[in-house]
Amino acid sequence: MPAPYRGGCLCGAIRYEATAAPLGAGYCHCSLCRRATGAPIFLGVAFPRVSFRMLQGTTHTHASSARGIRHFCGDCGSALFFELLDKPHQWEVMIGSLDDASDIEPSIHVCVSSGVGWLQIADGLPRRP
Ligand SMILES: [Zn+2]
Ligand SMILES: [Zn+2]
Repeated sequence: MPAPYRGGCLCGAIRYEATAAPLGAGYCHCSLCRRATGAPIFLGVAFPRVSFRMLQGTTHTHASSARGIRHFCGDCGSALFFELLDKPHQWEVMIGSLDDASDIEPSIHVCVSSGVGWLQIADGLPRRP
């Protein structure tokens, strides 16, 4: 899918777009990401922040650690963005919120050592503990 990448939450209150190509996509297995998404694994895709803009609605936020702020829809609860405070030039989007993520390929797994043991993805990608 060519840019812009568009997406939004489950109820439709929040819509966004990113007009540049993704910087990268990766899985995180940590316990914070599990709780924030309600899923056994997190998959985020980073876009240049200058290329990202909200089209509709305003997110609610939660500072889940000193490192990041999680954005979600206050109406339907969909997890949407992870704002990394030490990476101000990028904006991380939860890949499941995109309308079409078919051309985005993850390239790494992080926090693998704190993941759930039964989830094994045999994709051959690099893994960081
Ligand atoms: Zn919503
Ligand atoms: Zn994580």
